Amino acid sequence: MSLQKEAYQQIKAILDAAKVNLVAVSKTKPNEDIQALYDLGQRAFGENYVQELVDKEAALPKDIHWHFIGHLQSNKVKYIAPFVHLIHGVDGEKLLQEINKQAIKNNRVISCLLQVHIASEETKFGFDSSSLLELIDSGRLSNYPNVLVKGLMGMASFTTDQAVLKNEFEGLSTSFNQVKSKLNNVHFDTLSMGMSSDYSLAIKEGSTMVRIGSLLFGARNQVL
Ligand SMILES: *Cc1c(COP(=O)(O)O)cnc(C)c1O
Repeated sequence: MSLQKEAYQQIKAILDAAKVNLVAVSKTKPNEDIQALYDLGQRAFGENYVQELVDKEAALPKDIHWHFIGHLQSNKVKYIAPFVHLIHGVDGEKLLQEINKQAIKNNRVISCLLQVHIASEETKFGFDSSSLLELIDSGRLSNYPNVLVKGLMGMASFTTDQAVLKNEFEGLSTSFNQVKSKLNNVHFDTLSMGMSSDYSLAIKEGSTMVRIGSLLFGARNQVL
């Protein structure tokens, strides 16, 4: 299945009305599909794998905003540091330190979201809400002047149970508002939550940025 143009237009209209940003998740999808969505006006794309992102960035238009949404290993930050627009999954201080270092090398400030562990599954990465607040309260973010923490990101449990999803999104939204009031920073404005199956609910719970793949590009062959 290739690009779902009508779905894109419908989703875009809903998101624009709600003032929510769309990251089109293009992992595993060919450059032609990304170019086709670009031609419809989409500029923000999300990828999970460093090598795939590096290859796509080299081949596709330079005004694309590339979002890294996967689990990022510290030793791979250097490959995306020159161009990445927003790193969604920052889940520890070691990674913050490395992003800061690579940002300095590239003479830029790299925007990031702190990932919060909201799902019941063990496999999802992220800070838990108490270690997140501890990091904020400690003032240690100022050790990373070339990292701009723009908000939070979370992934809900892999379930269709709306009550569970609502509860997890509410928890993340609460953390977002707490951190926002503590930081008192105008740049802290991004809450990345919601994917193809749960974005409507995520928006109701305060999402400002959704990451949507399969509704736009069709189902993926691999389970990722
Ligand atoms: C793959 C992925 C998405 C998009 O998932 P869809 O269900 O295809 O919309 C969103 N966020 C993350 C972190 C992902 O890995």
